[in-house]
Amino acid sequence: MQSRALTSEEYYVESEPYYEATGDEIAIFEAAYQNKLPVLLKGPTGCGKTRFMEYMAWRLKRPLITVSCHDDLTASDLVGRFLIKGGETVWVDGPLARAVRAGAICYLDEIVEARKDAIVVIHPLADDRRVLPMEKLGTLLQANDDFCLAISYNPGYQSVLKDLKQSTRQRFVALEFDYPSADLERKIVAKESGVDTALAEKLVKFAHMTRNLKGSGLDEGASTRLLVHAGKLIASGVEPIAACRSAIAQAITDDAEMLAAVRELSTSLF
Ligand code: ADP
Repeated sequence: MQSRALTSEEYYVESEPYYEATGDEIAIFEAAYQNKLPVLLKGPTGCGKTRFMEYMAWRLKRPLITVSCHDDLTASDLVGRFLIKGGETVWVDGPLARAVRAGAICYLDEIVEARKDAIVVIHPLADDRRVLPMEKLGTLLQANDDFCLAISYNPGYQSVLKDLKQSTRQRFVALEFDYPSADLERKIVAKESGVDTALAEKLVKFAHMTRNLKGSGLDEGASTRLLVHAGKLIASGVEPIAACRSAIAQAITDDAEMLAAVRELSTSLF
């Protein structure tokens, strides 16, 4: 089957995504958007950043183009490249160029994972020039007025290699994300997974226990995403301890002792 490029129309978020605000992030994002300021979402994995972007795209009625950055991601992957099609050389826009032209919201998830040239290519887009250099075409693409750039970054990894440079971060309005408060997280887990409130509360307690182990054997505690996964398994009939093992413990560590310790925590609760 031949693949085809999706048009920006196909990236509209059609129905309202379920999103529980944890602070003033909606108002700040909206104000940043109106002022054409790019936004940086800081926070650990699985705490609601992607869901927030889906919600904002729906609210602002803009298409959302998301790119998950990885260590092989180059500027060409974002901007575009020449491809041979039917014997002819044609230019194909990358996702960032498509968003810039169409006035979409482009969300570059985990930007520090990308290669340096990919990070640098967003600089002129992220200041008041709002242009995308298309080196291979020898042109500068002026962003559509509705275009918005958002990036995410997890400051918790604390590695020089995975640090966001000041020259990059100082172009963005930064929104800090963290796991929701216990009450809110219980509500989210119950709503997203279908378990009752009492069970959601236990899962949240379990998450807090694992989060307290961060830095003493665990890189990260259980995220809201993992609680939702465990909740879904439980709602489908899996025993809570087995669900916590598969959806949470095994997802956060490979260390046998740590797995045993996390299992102890789950047996004390369920
Ligand atoms: P991130 O992008 O930060 O890694 P996600 O946005 O994918 O995390 O969040 C993971 C899951 O957690 C979501 O799919 C959703 O089920 C749930 N979630 C987290 N925070 C919220 C929130 N504030 N409102 C609604 N759902 C949330």
